[in-house]
Amino acid sequence: MPKERILVVEDEADIRELIQYNLQREGFEVLMVGTGEEALSTATQERPDLILLDLMLPGMNGLDVCRSLKSNPALANIPILIVSARGEETDVVTGLELGADDYLTKPFSPRVLVARARAVLRRRTTESQEPTDGVPTAVSIHGLRINPRKHEAHLFDSALNLTATEFRILHFLAKSPGWVFTRQQIVETVHGDDYPVTERSIDVQIAGLRKKLGESSDYIETVRGIGYRMKE
Ligand code: CA
Repeated sequence: MPKERILVVEDEADIRELIQYNLQREGFEVLMVGTGEEALSTATQERPDLILLDLMLPGMNGLDVCRSLKSNPALANIPILIVSARGEETDVVTGLELGADDYLTKPFSPRVLVARARAVLRRRTTESQEPTDGVPTAVSIHGLRINPRKHEAHLFDSALNLTATEFRILHFLAKSPGWVFTRQQIVETVHGDDYPVTERSIDVQIAGLRKKLGESSDYIETVRGIGYRMKE
């Protein structure tokens, strides 16, 4: 199997070295660039399997790079893992809504870096293998069984009495455990017809869901400043 190639966009030399060393040690091929402009030209020429994108870059910033990649049909499929500093949550939210797959906050451990990179690459492979007949798939996780065909959700042996919107949110989060979604992403996915869904109302819906999940409510995690995710 050919090595998977990761394009690393990072302007700080010591962080670049740390990332390069750890990814290479795990068997990835690493392409390094220090500016957004170089990121776009290298992505176009090399078509990497994953882009690790720092947000704070000299010149063109990471969000502009993300926007530019996602609006180019030839490059839009390349997964992006955003690297941000603490306090840049708003930018992370924007990046995820532009189509980035996940994010890492500096400082991060090499172990977390490698795990996230692997997870993004793995998710891409699984998604491309999913059946495309448009029927949403059933999900089982943490004792939850969610069957969208029958519109039924069970927690262990009890049927959960969920509203249509709660059901869609739960199914959406449970399909991708470990992945954080912004409120706006959840709104776009569930756009309920029984309830006008807004970003603020997502918090209300989640609170309602947690109540119905009782002792299992912790499986829906709040990611401060970003949104929500189903525990992995
Ligand atoms: Ca930087």
